[in-house]
Amino acid sequence: MTKIMMFGVREHEKDIAREWAKENDVEITMSDDILTVEATEQLQGFDGVSTQQTGKLDDGIYERLNQLGIKQIAQRSAGFDMYNLEKASENNIIISNVPSYSPNSIAEYAVTAALQLLRNTHLIDQRVSEKDFRWEKVIMGREVKSLEVAIIGTGRIGQIAAQIFKGFGSKVVGYDVYPNEDAKQYLEYKDSVEDAIANADIVSLHMPATEDNYHLFNEEMFNKFKDNAVLINTARGSVVDTKALINALDSGKISGAALDTYEYESTYFPKDFRDKDITDPVLSELLTRQDVILTPHIAYYTDIAVKNLVEGGLNAALSVIKTGTCNTRVN
Ligand code: NAD
Repeated sequence: MTKIMMFGVREHEKDIAREWAKENDVEITMSDDILTVEATEQLQGFDGVSTQQTGKLDDGIYERLNQLGIKQIAQRSAGFDMYNLEKASENNIIISNVPSYSPNSIAEYAVTAALQLLRNTHLIDQRVSEKDFRWEKVIMGREVKSLEVAIIGTGRIGQIAAQIFKGFGSKVVGYDVYPNEDAKQYLEYKDSVEDAIANADIVSLHMPATEDNYHLFNEEMFNKFKDNAVLINTARGSVVDTKALINALDSGKISGAALDTYEYESTYFPKDFRDKDITDPVLSELLTRQDVILTPHIAYYTDIAVKNLVEGGLNAALSVIKTGTCNTRVN
């Protein structure tokens, strides 16, 4: 029977993997270890590997897998920057990812976060938990229908977010380095980020992190925002200069931010810090602010997305084992 080893397995993946193994007549071994050179010792007799790592893999892994007769590593995420693709190819190892596991999960979360900010639900929850039931201006909401939304990055996720906001009746504008014909059904393209944000009350980011857009949302950009706008970042932390964002919030230029990603998140997300200190002063500041909703890179985290990630990784591994390639290979 074909044997696949899954590394970095989280509890919520196990039942899905077991079900997939039954349906595909494959034996799966699950480990919560990450894939290291030492861990490859466990791979004697296995045909395939799947993992979900956020840190860079040791370059020695590819040669070791080749020696073991294993032909691939199936990453169970969209990102694959942790792999040395050149080294993998030199050793005939096919790296695959799961490029689109549920754009709806992230788009729906971005809209949820915008609504939370605009209706002040986080403040209302807090006040109600203190038995403070008063109607006061600090919790008065704004109606999404009356607002303009700017979608920056109109790919898979951005387009769905645009569609949902349009469903609320909002005016939706957008910017993308490569505008998309289909997206024009849901939004009006502008020629630059600056044009897109100029009149936007909600700015929602949906582009990948690249060298070109590092800290694109900096002091200069925030100064060009419409007064009282809110920023939603479910894209990548590095596109926002967080200190500049805090200054823009302090000055009142921006009224709120929902951050599902943070530029230095890898030390903290998704870990349990209840008994540990946060030594990053910027993160500490974000956590105490009433005008910031911070979440631990959770926008993707739905039942459907997790199922698609597990099955997508395992399908890719099995495809390489059976056919020598797969349609989600990245090298
Ligand atoms: P996609 O490739 O379908 O779309 C990205 C779009 O951004 C493309 O149309 C591209 O042309 C555009 N783009 C690139 N650079 C740009 C720039 N500087 N300015 C404007 N547009 C730019 O990707 P997707 O599946 O829609 O995912 C978008 C991003 O969402 C991912 O890159 C990732 O960073 C983020 N993401 C977050 C989570 C989460 O849980 N928070 C999960 C998955 C993805």
